[in-house]
Amino acid sequence: MFVEIVVDIQNSEVDKVFDYQTSTFVPVGTRVLVPFGNRKVEGYIISTKDQTSQDISKIKAIISFDKEPVIIPEHLELIDYMSKTYNLKKIDIIRLLVPVGLRNGKIKQRYETLVSLTNTNFDVKKFRSTAKNQIELYNYLLNNKIEKLSILNKKFTQNAVKKLKNLNLLQFQEEKVISKTKDYGTISKKITLTQTQKSIVETISNQKNKYLLFGVTGSGKTEVYMNVIQNMLEKNKTAIMLVPEISLTPQVLKNFKAKFGDEVALLHSGLSQRERFDEWYRIYNGQAKVVVGARSAIFAPIKNIGVIIIDEEHDSSYYSESNPRYSTIEVAKFRAEKNGASLVLGSATPDVESFYKAQIGEYKLLEMPERINKAPMPKFDVVDMLGELRNGNSSIFSRKLIAELCDCVKNGKQAMIYINRRGYQTNVMCRNCGYSVKCEHCDVPLVYHKEDNMLKCHYCDARYHVLSNCPKCGSTDLRYGAIGTQKVVEELKKFLPHAKVFRMDNDNTRSKDAHYNILNEFSNTPSSILVGTQMIAKGHDFPLVTLVGIVDADMGLHFADFRASERTFQLITQVSGRAGRGEYEGKVVLQTYMPKNYTYKCAVNYDYQNFFKHELNIRKVTKFPPFVKILRVLISGDDEQKVLEYTKDYFQQVKNIQRENPQSFVYLNAMKCPVKKIQNKFRYQILMRITQNDYTKVRDLIYNINKRLKSKDVLCFVEVNSQNLS
Ligand code: ADP
Ligand code: ZN
Ligand code: ZN
Repeated sequence: MFVEIVVDIQNSEVDKVFDYQTSTFVPVGTRVLVPFGNRKVEGYIISTKDQTSQDISKIKAIISFDKEPVIIPEHLELIDYMSKTYNLKKIDIIRLLVPVGLRNGKIKQRYETLVSLTNTNFDVKKFRSTAKNQIELYNYLLNNKIEKLSILNKKFTQNAVKKLKNLNLLQFQEEKVISKTKDYGTISKKITLTQTQKSIVETISNQKNKYLLFGVTGSGKTEVYMNVIQNMLEKNKTAIMLVPEISLTPQVLKNFKAKFGDEVALLHSGLSQRERFDEWYRIYNGQAKVVVGARSAIFAPIKNIGVIIIDEEHDSSYYSESNPRYSTIEVAKFRAEKNGASLVLGSATPDVESFYKAQIGEYKLLEMPERINKAPMPKFDVVDMLGELRNGNSSIFSRKLIAELCDCVKNGKQAMIYINRRGYQTNVMCRNCGYSVKCEHCDVPLVYHKEDNMLKCHYCDARYHVLSNCPKCGSTDLRYGAIGTQKVVEELKKFLPHAKVFRMDNDNTRSKDAHYNILNEFSNTPSSILVGTQMIAKGHDFPLVTLVGIVDADMGLHFADFRASERTFQLITQVSGRAGRGEYEGKVVLQTYMPKNYTYKCAVNYDYQNFFKHELNIRKVTKFPPFVKILRVLISGDDEQKVLEYTKDYFQQVKNIQRENPQSFVYLNAMKCPVKKIQNKFRYQILMRITQNDYTKVRDLIYNINKRLKSKDVLCFVEVNSQNLS
């Protein structure tokens, strides 16, 4: 028999499939060891065949193979799909599918010997009357049918086991040892679904479709997901549910464990390699029927899927932004299709593209417009920071926010203060009228580049001279840059010296448990304030939080990205959703230099629909997604000259494609990346915007350039609709 094998060679550009032979049958999907050159390497069988076009005498034999396949048949198709869609090497996809411990052989499967009787009619009188252990062992197995050898040896002595074995009374079988699942503690909460929840659960459970579940924060979406999953289990189907890693809080883990017990596998970053492997294996062998996890859980080797749920579907973490680059939602669609499963995308602030798809009928829209118990949404106070400045307050905090904070802390409640870190880039804003300087061609804010003292557009590379006056009002009071969490904490202490203040950002949550510990401590400290970045925006349910302060809302809007408004709207909604989740009403203080901006107007009224209309219109006029697809070719390497030459060659070839298909290109240009160097690698990019209809055709032509234009000196990736163009 011949087999086609993908070999696992580190840092290799090889994406070839090699023929090997084997005298014993080895199923597709099995991990093998094969000779490769003068080395032995790991590989995976992706197909078998009776014949080969190659010289048989030169085809080498497999050295060894695992007892069972590690790649399920559906995933073999997924490998094909992903390599075509994202131009990925097969081995890079396989590395997503097979847990790391299994790949490098570090984690070995543990086996246990199970013992049972061959003959249940044996006359125990045939044992010598002194052979008490043997009689007891026999009777024990008669009662218990099967038991672990290790236990029998301990209970009845090795000698007794040996005696029965010699009488041919015992049979042995090997079984994998599966560790107990991690203990998450338990909680119990009796919940009766509302009418809305009930009817949505019915719809999703009974009609296979792609759904967009648009439900405000606190509308009870999680409860809907759990009930849909429950229904699938009753139909003997399985389920995958994805949430952003940040939302996999102990609370969420406990909830799922409480509801589904050992039928659920929880995949999160707090697991050791061994624990991860064990969860993976429980899924693989069918013990776990529900998978809950972050992005990578979409690759769980689960069969017979009834539903795939993606919560917070707008979250950018669902896009993998380093190799291998892929969109989790697209992969989920593929798997749903293959399994005949429903797909549920849930959000309080759907991605503009997703909502557009619901409008044109690609998704079925389901709505949950009210909070549970009709709890009111928090009320917004929009504070015009220019007004504050004119009144002589130049601090980070408005007088309103300080007053509310004092009140909140005095009443034993809690507050969260949110800082937008996406605004770390240096943007230019007028402190007098709030105007932020935008590109004439792209309608995105310009970014200040200190090294050549220029303003640049990160989308089209247009350059502008630095301004000394605001183009709108003429003021010279222009502001550059953003505020950090530490600064906010310091300032806060001046106003509220006695309040306990917690801080949470990327810098102090590097260690595995830091994140949980801070949240835990905060939740146990009344009259305290939590200051944080986007991390504090999601998923947390703190009943004492009645106040949310958004210190510098505008920084998100200044971010040089066509999604800037969308991201800001999403964040404001998410952050405000943290207030008033318990029995006390919530309040949000939003500080801005441009209170009239439509993003804020819509956000403070929870008016997603109007925001969407406005935003979609802009995208249509400026020709951005969902009306086009953005393709970015990212080229990097140690030697700038070589990177540049490669970029030029590549660009030339794209231009040839454009010449043949002029109507397909809305935009095409090559330039340095906004972040010019990362880890000493120089970065260039070719940006294009392609019409939806021609997208697949152009994409494949672009991928072909990658296949033709190989270089040892540069890395070259193609990104589709990148979430981040840095
Ligand atoms: P979402 O995910 O839409 O933000 P959650 O599912 O977290 O909302 O629900 C918000 C709160 O309401 C949670 O504390 C949840 O336990 C509770 N909840 C959900 N459904 C019900 C219900 N039918 N009756 C009572 N409480 C509910
Ligand atoms: Zn101005
Ligand atoms: Zn531009």
